[in-house]
Amino acid sequence: MTARILDGKLLSDSVKAEVATRVEALKTRGITPGLAVVLVGSDPASQVYVRNKAAACEKAGLHSRVIRLDGDITEEALLDVVRELNGDDAVHGILVQLPLPRHMNAAKVIETIAADKDVDGFHISNAGLLMTGQPLFRPCTPYGIMKMLESEQISLWGAEAVVVGASNIVGKPMAMLMLAAGATVTLCNSKTRDLAAQTRRADVLVVATGKPGMVTGDMIKPGATVIDVGINRNDQGKLVGDVDFDSAREVAGLITPVPGGVGPMTIAMLLVNTLEAAERRAT
Ligand code: NDP
Repeated sequence: MTARILDGKLLSDSVKAEVATRVEALKTRGITPGLAVVLVGSDPASQVYVRNKAAACEKAGLHSRVIRLDGDITEEALLDVVRELNGDDAVHGILVQLPLPRHMNAAKVIETIAADKDVDGFHISNAGLLMTGQPLFRPCTPYGIMKMLESEQISLWGAEAVVVGASNIVGKPMAMLMLAAGATVTLCNSKTRDLAAQTRRADVLVVATGKPGMVTGDMIKPGATVIDVGINRNDQGKLVGDVDFDSAREVAGLITPVPGGVGPMTIAMLLVNTLEAAERRAT
């Protein structure tokens, strides 16, 4: 069996087109959804992410503002920038690009973002709302994955879902969203004793560890849906996922590629979250 490939680029284009239509509708009411992205320091990967996010906003008709700050700025000065954005009516969504320089407490910075502008969904109140089944903003990567599953009509009701990786930004919210959709969820981490025994039970397997190629074909149930969140650069400088694509593709039923899978959906859902923040304010 060779798995079908779930094209995240294609799906993200249709999500972005729908966002553009809804943005137009808001504009007729005098509202332009606005996203502020704060970038501290000069991490090359972060620079690329921020540029891509801003470009995607502009293309869909949203307003974007990128605030670039020196890497040696104090935490208090950064918090002041965030507070100012909290009070700015033209800004509906605020995103502080992670990782932050070592001298800053990322949790404190995120908690300073107004929860109703926290389009990344990382604020503790938004994490709590998600956990209790009343989400305001769903974190963009897991939200995009849910959209991918929905687009393929993959039902999670009663399904075995296994998530490898338990970070606050991907694994944990992913588990919550799939649980809410009726799946029986197993959340694995680096201490999981027999990882393959867990992954082999999965009807839907999501891998987000940052360990290139760690999930191989022999760890996958035949016909399973495999979602690869990982973005890693291999020794040849090529982008690869956390799943060994070639061996996994021989076993899975459906698989996301890297690049062109989850990554484009993450950006699309950031636009959705920003749009919805503006729509909520408009009502
Ligand atoms: P983190 O480093 O924050 O978390 C990694 C998680 O994976 C941890 O829970 C860790 O376990 C677990 N883990 C590490 N090694 C193993 C192992 N051998 N077996 C089982 N679990 C393991 O990573 P992120 O969640 O931030 O990111 C994960 C990957 O996803 C990265 O490649 C990142 O670049 C990518 N990413 C992609 C996005 C996209 O848009 N496509 C968005 C965000 C991230 P423990 O808790 O025990 O340490």
